Amino acid sequence: MKEISFLDNLVGVFGHPAADNPGVVIQEAAFNDLGIERWRFLTIDVDPDKLGDAIAGLKAMKMRGINCTLPHKLAVLEYLDEISPAAKLIGAVNMIVNTDGKLFGDNTDGKGFMESLSSAGISAEGKNIVILGAGGAGRAVAVETALAGAKHITIVNIPQDEKLAASLIELLKTKTGAAAEYIPWTDAFKVPLDCDILINATPIGLYPNVNDKPNIDYDTIRPDLFVQDVIPNPAFTPFLAEAEKRGARWNTGMGMLINQAAINIEMWTGLKPNKKVMTKAFQSVIS
Ligand code: NDP
Repeated sequence: MKEISFLDNLVGVFGHPAADNPGVVIQEAAFNDLGIERWRFLTIDVDPDKLGDAIAGLKAMKMRGINCTLPHKLAVLEYLDEISPAAKLIGAVNMIVNTDGKLFGDNTDGKGFMESLSSAGISAEGKNIVILGAGGAGRAVAVETALAGAKHITIVNIPQDEKLAASLIELLKTKTGAAAEYIPWTDAFKVPLDCDILINATPIGLYPNVNDKPNIDYDTIRPDLFVQDVIPNPAFTPFLAEAEKRGARWNTGMGMLINQAAINIEMWTGLKPNKKVMTKAFQSVIS
């Protein structure tokens, strides 16, 4: 008799809320394209106080892994057996691999961002980088660009959460080779003359607030600046439109999203997915 298995290989995402997470569309399109049967991506709403139970469930059901999105990226650290050096520095995990009950955590947001930057022909090495925002995405981007040899990183963040920015600056200065400074974001930010790469790592411009843009003096954007957004939906934000108007090169946050999903699939299945298929699937569901 032909040997068959109806066992499902389970991965997915824990979030709260989780309903708007497009991971299932992107990942299952890749699974279908790879022809791997019985891989399922589950979108799971986990209340913050139930994360431990959810992790126990993941182990009990022998799930191959899970993505963690807000608000679980920090809280999940205590349940892991091993954490990648970059995720340890960033202090956040968005991706877990379960190998026979042992949980390994990594941060593929930062890795996805770096792949996106390099596919635009940009290297962080020796560059002066300005990052708007000091939250999860800002930290991942700051740590990865610093580890890739950035010369100087400026974190621009609203002063209400000065501690967050200060801890990131301290980390960059002590744990990476990059110089770092914090600029409180109190009025229209003027991009410094020596800035090479300007990155929006705030949620400003994310659907449904599609007309919003970071508070910047846009006339300080020069044609030789590279401007990068982390917002995946819409891909072309007003922030990028302003950069384009001033002749600067730019890159959307969609590549970062697709890259991190592709890295996740590779870490779970060992197979390289087709990013074009994944991008098309994502584009079919965004507004
Ligand atoms: P966080 O909430 O952790 O951090 C957001 C940061 O932006 C904080 O520093 C926050 O400051 C700042 N901020 C928020 N609103 C404003 C505002 N109006 N003016 C100035 N600063 C502001 O979010 P994340 O870092 O996790 O996510 C940020 C964005 O990155 C999201 O839109 C998300 O979609 C995107 N992202 C994209 C990914 C991709 O693959 N393309 C991956 C991960 C995230 P404060 O803390 O002081 O409020």
